Amino acid sequence: MTDQRIFTLLACALVALTTCMVAQAADKPNIVVIFCDDLGYGDLGAFGHPTIQTPNLDRMAAEGQKWTSFYAAASVCTPSRAGLLTGRLPIRNGMCSDKRRVLFPDSTGGIPENELLISEALKAQGYATAAIGKWHLGHLPQYLPTNNGFDYYYGIPYSNDMDRAPNTKQIKVFVDPKIEYFEVPLLRNEEIIERPADQTTITRRYTEEAVQFIKSKKDGPFFLYLAHSMPHIPLFRSPPFENTSRRGLYGDVIEEIDWSVGQVLDTLRDEGLADNTLVVFTSDNGPWLIFKEQGGSAGLLRGGKGGTFEGGMREPTIFWWPGAIAPGVVAEMGSTLDIFATACALSGATMPTDRIMDSHDLSPVLRGTGPSPREDMFYYRGAQVFAVRRGPFKAHFQTKGEYGSPKLAVHEPPLLYNLEHDPSEKYNIAEANPEAIEAIRKTLAAHNDTLVRGKDQLAGRIAK
Ligand code: MG
Repeated sequence: MTDQRIFTLLACALVALTTCMVAQAADKPNIVVIFCDDLGYGDLGAFGHPTIQTPNLDRMAAEGQKWTSFYAAASVCTPSRAGLLTGRLPIRNGMCSDKRRVLFPDSTGGIPENELLISEALKAQGYATAAIGKWHLGHLPQYLPTNNGFDYYYGIPYSNDMDRAPNTKQIKVFVDPKIEYFEVPLLRNEEIIERPADQTTITRRYTEEAVQFIKSKKDGPFFLYLAHSMPHIPLFRSPPFENTSRRGLYGDVIEEIDWSVGQVLDTLRDEGLADNTLVVFTSDNGPWLIFKEQGGSAGLLRGGKGGTFEGGMREPTIFWWPGAIAPGVVAEMGSTLDIFATACALSGATMPTDRIMDSHDLSPVLRGTGPSPREDMFYYRGAQVFAVRRGPFKAHFQTKGEYGSPKLAVHEPPLLYNLEHDPSEKYNIAEANPEAIEAIRKTLAAHNDTLVRGKDQLAGRIAK
């Protein structure tokens, strides 16, 4: 055999091997979920904020898909996170309650052991998995990420305003915060490594951990769940971002998160992983309006965190995967609930068949090959359905203010809005559209017919 022939054969073998490796890698893309806390629909440049600068997110949106009707699973932290990670409405696993709205440091409950999380489904497909940031699905050891499919955890296990120090009951501690007011722990895996966590550098440190994880797992596939503690109050940012935004403190915080997104995407680009990694950016619920200037903005949407008007659950959402995603703006419905089924479809995992799932595979929309399979959305407050969206129509059967001691209002007939014509939910069109209400009643009845409520995980607390 001539040298030339051997060289050609070797070259062919190398090409075949490389093609095989690329094909194998493309079979199982890396998946990164960047999840903010209490970010409003109107808080990003790409979603119309006039003074908050988010160049990295704006670029991400331009290169990927910007979703304008994308919903969190609930309007407060714990149920919303349970919905994302299980692909099931939190009512099914007891991660919502009429007694307490979220888990607290004295809670005894958490994500039930028999729930299957995205991390577990992907781990079974050979993914390396990490949770970095806020958890809030139970802080006792059995509920922590490392016992729920994540190889690694680094973060504050619940909200950053918890574990209040003695004599810090006044609201001013939230709006003029100091590290020592909030004795929240920072965990690495299951060990407390800092308490109180220095929150001024928390966004930066979450980012450094995320970048480190990506670099160390670049041979893939990997699943990274990067759940920022910000911009949930109390607001903190690191020194380079102090007093830099025209939007004030809240703007500083968002601009640091934007920097963080830039770090993650740049790492993926630099490591040659951009064309094999799906990145989703969204938030757990809308802005916490009672904190006024220190809360975010839902933009043109009505209401905010804690409520069932659009501002409580519709989130500024971006999907990014250069070369695989058809760039554009998507006005069809999607939800954090759908990330589970989408991740299964992309990774080759099969969806569980032993339980009711509330998750739809959005990959046809991402690839530009088909419409969104999501046709409805349920808006739970605690353990009750307050509103239902079907197609463009949304019916509110009950409404209630978000925080404080709000009064419940029952609506019969329900309030009806066409969200495509009236995203601000200003004009009740119930009288002229009885058939739309009828269709929504049927959707709700079908939901209730099959609903098995999970045991309330949020009500239990340590006896004092
Ligand atoms: Mg939240």
